[in-house]
Amino acid sequence: MKKVTIFGALTLAVVLICFGVYMYAQNGASDSANFKEPTPQSVKTDVTITLHTDDETTKVQEKIGDFYRNLTIPTKDGKVFAGWYTASNAGERVNWLNIVPENDTELYARWVTVKENAESARGVPVLMYHWFYDDPKNALDGNWYDINEFKKQLQYLSDNDFYFPSWDELDAYIDGKLNLPPASVIITDDDAMESFINLAVPLIEKSKIPVTSFMISIYGHDYKNTKYIVSESHTHDMHRPGADGRGRMVNESVDVIRDDLLTSRKTIQNWTKKRQGLDTGKVEVLAYPFGHYNDTAKQALSAEKFKLAFTTEYGRVTIGADKLQLPRIRMSDGEGFESFKAKVD
Ligand SMILES: [Zn+2]
Repeated sequence: MKKVTIFGALTLAVVLICFGVYMYAQNGASDSANFKEPTPQSVKTDVTITLHTDDETTKVQEKIGDFYRNLTIPTKDGKVFAGWYTASNAGERVNWLNIVPENDTELYARWVTVKENAESARGVPVLMYHWFYDDPKNALDGNWYDINEFKKQLQYLSDNDFYFPSWDELDAYIDGKLNLPPASVIITDDDAMESFINLAVPLIEKSKIPVTSFMISIYGHDYKNTKYIVSESHTHDMHRPGADGRGRMVNESVDVIRDDLLTSRKTIQNWTKKRQGLDTGKVEVLAYPFGHYNDTAKQALSAEKFKLAFTTEYGRVTIGADKLQLPRIRMSDGEGFESFKAKVD
């Protein structure tokens, strides 16, 4: 009799608990029905860009309002790629500096012959600046450059529709796989020093002309960057003399240089991670400190997959050039506007 009572009480308890859970679940369900989350408005962030060559069609995704980042450089036997255009027979050339529109877009490849490419190639001037001054008494040596001259030069490049190739484009140009407009120029600045940051960067942002900053990554760089600055390497800690008084780049072993290059790449990638803009964070381009290089340095660069490296030898980058021994055009303060024009035209 007693057992039955306990059994009965237990059964009743189980039934009550189950009922309670059932009611709770029902209330929960009706609550969530009453307080329904509003459906989020789906915001379209990507568009599809369809790339047509004569032989094939490929699609890439790009972010609306950002620069084009995924345009390819196609190849074709006997031809040289001459850019993506907005129409198959006319239209505008679209490159990495164009802003991705809100609608899906079709782009069409244009080609020239190998002969036409060779005949039109004039070499690409890669300009080399260092530090800037706005007061002549701060012009301590030839590495200091008048910021007002720089401003006029940016204006000239902008007014005359110069083309600013990306590093990938220059790489393909050297291989003879990309035709660039005759008026093409790349601007670089070494060291990322305060005067560059304070005086030049605001002008660069305003002009919307991309400039590569070769950074010595062991130095902290505490400035608000613009998306028009492309950050590449001037080594991490090789920008000082080694045992024989020349740069460390020509004094250290392959392993030591490789370590430095890796650290530089990681440091610059971390520094640029939060930024939007041109910098793809690959860090595959280097300017040799003091222009010093040798075969050991080049071996280390190849091992770490650096694609292009610049010396301070004077000249334009031509088709077939040694990619780890590229020349630049040094900018000399006080050279005058005609001299600048001769360098870029
Ligand atoms: Zn330097």
